Amino acid sequence: MAPSPNVYDAEPIPQAARAEIDRLLNSGDLFRYTAPEDAPVALLEREFAAYMGSKYALAVASCSAALFLSIKALGLPRDARILIPAFTFAAVPSAVVHAECRPVLVEVGDNYRIDMDNFRARLDDDIDAVLISHMRGHTSDMDAIMALCDARNIPVIEDAAHSLGTTWRGRKIGTIGRVGCFSFQSYKLVNAGEGGILITDDADLVARAVIMSGAYEHNWKKHPVLQDAFARWQNRLPLYNTRMNNLSAAVIRPQIAEIDRRVRDGRRNHDHVAARLNGSPWIDVPDALPGEERAPDSLQFNLLGMDDAQVRAFAAAAGARGVSVQVFGLSTDNARAFWNWKFLGPQPDLPKTRRMLSRACDTRLPARLQQRDLDFIADALLGAAAQTMAGQGEALAFGT
Ligand SMILES: *Cc1c(COP(=O)(O)O)cnc(C)c1O
Repeated sequence: MAPSPNVYDAEPIPQAARAEIDRLLNSGDLFRYTAPEDAPVALLEREFAAYMGSKYALAVASCSAALFLSIKALGLPRDARILIPAFTFAAVPSAVVHAECRPVLVEVGDNYRIDMDNFRARLDDDIDAVLISHMRGHTSDMDAIMALCDARNIPVIEDAAHSLGTTWRGRKIGTIGRVGCFSFQSYKLVNAGEGGILITDDADLVARAVIMSGAYEHNWKKHPVLQDAFARWQNRLPLYNTRMNNLSAAVIRPQIAEIDRRVRDGRRNHDHVAARLNGSPWIDVPDALPGEERAPDSLQFNLLGMDDAQVRAFAAAAGARGVSVQVFGLSTDNARAFWNWKFLGPQPDLPKTRRMLSRACDTRLPARLQQRDLDFIADALLGAAAQTMAGQGEALAFGT
C-alpha cells in the first residue's frame, strides 16, 4: 500500500525570508518600534493592507489578540453582548470573555454557515456587536448579515482567521465588516508559527487598537494613521502588549506573493476530493453559498444515514486506511464543540449545531498536496464509508 500523505507539514518558507532573518539576527533589531521607520512589521502592515485593499492594518501576536483588540477598540460597555456562531474555535468566545463582554451563541446549520432565522431572532436580543467567525473558511450570507446589522447600527467584526483569499460577491472576506482579523498560525494559509493581523478602514478604531496592542508613549507615530486620532487616545487606553516581532514579519512578507497560488491550489484540491466524496450515498460535502469563492485548506463533510456508533466506526476505518478524520462533536474535548466551552458557564442548548457537529467530519487538505495524495485521501474515505455501511443499502431502501 502507498504511504499515506503527510497532511501536517506546511510549505517551505520562501528563500527570500532567509536573508532578511539573517540581517535581523546580525543586527539584533527584533522589536518593531526600534527602527525609526520601515521595520519589517510596519512593512508587513503596509503590504497586507495593500493586498487586501484596506486603509489600515495592525499586526499582532495572534488572530485571537486581533479579535480581542477589535472588540476592545469598539469601546463597548462591560458585559456587552456579542453574537458569535456556535460553531467556531474556543479562542473566539475566549476573546469575547477576555474583553469583558458576553458571547451569545447563534445556531449554525448543516452547511456550517450561520442559521439566518436564528441569527435574525437573536439579533434583537440586546446585541451590541456581531463577531462572524468564518469557521474553516465557510462564509455565511454576508449580504443578509450586513443588511440586518447596518439597519440596527450594530458593528460587525469578521474572524477571517481561516478565510484568507476567500471572496464574497467579489469582495475579499475580512473587508466586509468594520474590522477583519486573520491568523498566521501554522495551520492557516500563511504560516509564521504564530501571528495575526487586523484590517479596517476606520482610523479611530485602528488608532485605539494600535495603542492597546502596545504602542506606548509616542510609538504610534510610526503608524501611518491620521495622527489626530492617536493624539485623542494618548494615555487613555490600557496597554495589552501583544505586538508582533520583526522575525515573524520577515517570515510572513515573502508569503504574500504566494497567497493567490495557494488559494488556487487549495480550491482545486478541495473540489476534486469533494466531487469524489459526493459520489457516496453516505457522504455529503455541502455546497458553498452562491457568491462565495472559497479558499479551502481543509475539507469538511457530513456523514449521512449513520448512527453514532457507525460514525465512530467510519473514523476508525479511515484512520486504519491512513487518513485521520476528526468528528467535531464526537472526539473528546474538541475545542470546536460549544458544550466544551465550560469557561462560559451555563449556556442554552443549540440542538441544530449539536446535531451538525455529531455528523460533521474534518480532514486536513493542505494546498501543497498532489493529485495522488488527493486520490489516496478520497479512496480512503470512500472505502471507510462503504466498509462501515456494508449491507446497509437494502436496509435504507426498505426504510428500516
Ligand atoms: C485559527 C483560528 C483562530 C485563532 O487564531 P490564532 O492566530 O491561533 O489565535 C480563530 N478563529 C478561527 C476561525 C481560526 O481558524
